[in-house]
Amino acid sequence: MEHLHNCGSCGKYTMEKACASCNTETMLPRPPKFSLEDKYAELRREVKKEGLRKKGLY
Ligand SMILES: [Zn+2]
Repeated sequence: MEHLHNCGSCGKYTMEKACASCNTETMLPRPPKFSLEDKYAELRREVKKEGLRKKGLY
């Protein structure tokens, strides 16, 4: 399977290293070392926990 790169600027998928539309450097949508999505999910969990703590439920 080809490696599709994702333009961080306009969100288009391309196999080029630069976006054909806006010439922004593209990147792989899922970096192997960490996932930005997971990082945010973890942050959301922390915020939720903090909210429960303030209500005295945690
Ligand atoms: Zn672009």
